[in-house]
Amino acid sequence: MASALTDKLSRLVKQMRGQARITEANVQDMLREVRMALLEADVALPVVRDFIARVKEKALGQEVLGSLKPGQALVGIVNKELAATMGEGVADINLAAQPPAVILMAGLQGAGKTTTTAKLAKHLQEKRKKKVLTVSGDVYRPAAIEQLRTVTAQAGAEWFASGPEQKPREIALAALDYAKKHFFDVLLVDTAGRLAIDEVLMQEIKELHAVLNPVETLFVVDAMQGQDAVNTARAFKEALPLTGIVLTKLDGDSRGGAALSVRQITGAPIKFAGVSEKLDGLEVFDAERHAGRILGMGDIVALVEQVAQGVDMEAAQKLAAKVKSGDGFDLNDFLGQLQQMKQMGGLSSLMDKLPAQLAAKAGQVDMGKAERDIRRKEGIICSMTPHERRRPDIIKATRKKRIAAGAGVQVQEVNRLLNEFDQMRTMMKKMKSGGLMKMMKKMGG
Ligand code: GDP
Repeated sequence: MASALTDKLSRLVKQMRGQARITEANVQDMLREVRMALLEADVALPVVRDFIARVKEKALGQEVLGSLKPGQALVGIVNKELAATMGEGVADINLAAQPPAVILMAGLQGAGKTTTTAKLAKHLQEKRKKKVLTVSGDVYRPAAIEQLRTVTAQAGAEWFASGPEQKPREIALAALDYAKKHFFDVLLVDTAGRLAIDEVLMQEIKELHAVLNPVETLFVVDAMQGQDAVNTARAFKEALPLTGIVLTKLDGDSRGGAALSVRQITGAPIKFAGVSEKLDGLEVFDAERHAGRILGMGDIVALVEQVAQGVDMEAAQKLAAKVKSGDGFDLNDFLGQLQQMKQMGGLSSLMDKLPAQLAAKAGQVDMGKAERDIRRKEGIICSMTPHERRRPDIIKATRKKRIAAGAGVQVQEVNRLLNEFDQMRTMMKKMKSGGLMKMMKKMGG
């Protein structure tokens, strides 16, 4: 999916090599590709225009730093600007209020409000040790109230009963009162959604906001929503002082351009990303990673970083010292190497450095698959306990089964990874630290 853009940009990058400055002429072609990529990722048109204008301004006339080539420098600027646009603000939930801290959930029906409410309840209970109460203000769909009850129980939090015969305002006041009397730290208020924006809905949630005076008003939006996200976001922003955004369904295959649109329209920070239907599928939003996803060019960006920074020499030195001191190479180091491989622009970027004949051969390799393999390996290592990572030899049948289940792979795949690690460790043992440093330097080019 992403490789078309990657290819195009690679070609443009190559064409631009040898030019010392970014100029209006050479920047145009590149920006056209970036613009297309943003539109393909479903970023709304006005947002794309604004963004491209900002990038152009930053790029024009900028001196090219050190060994960076103009094309690469531009990609760097684009990526930085994307990440900066989406990344400002505080990531975690603000609970600085007289308890109970109220969090109001807003968004269209189906956006993932109820699921996110339960995910947040779990997050706040487990990670921040808060006592959490949930309540549903959706008086139109009894099923929604029931759904919140179920997921709240799964999250290990408490649910406050409400019914379709009540007014949302009444429910809010009763829940607030209950939360105060029973010393809850946080009250999460799920609200009614409609399939589209309508006045009654907006009026109702405004009224709820006034009654509850929430410390956080979170706008929940489906990452797959694409262009429509803009209108929804605008309507909610006009009705409510939004304090944060939760972008759901990022596990889907959309490029997630809605993030940029919604961030720009509302001005509110994107705090969390929903990455599965399950209650632990909530992650702190990572703007940089998401920038790469939107442009579908993670490896080009990484190539720029690689040229800019070289290999992470500090990590390489640490590793070398470890081998030298006989501390042993463990799975954490192995994971570090995988991550460094990704940082170096993935495998595709290394192709650039290969002699023509080899590159033609390498071209037959499925780069997407190779990179997916790295991610799977990361997943497996991440399913191990810290102890297992330090002492891989203790990983026997039962542990393997658990690790495989955790990473969603077959046991054979865990075996393969452990074999690979073993080979690497043997190699490391043989290698003198000087040799390792040399090898790393060579890889960094
Ligand atoms: P609400 O109408 O806004 O309360 O939306 P729900 O919480 O009922 O979610 C609508 C659907 O989206 C349900 O099937 C959820 O399981 C699903 N869903 C919510 N968040 C995510 C997510 O992050 N990833 C995936 N894959 N599904 C999600």
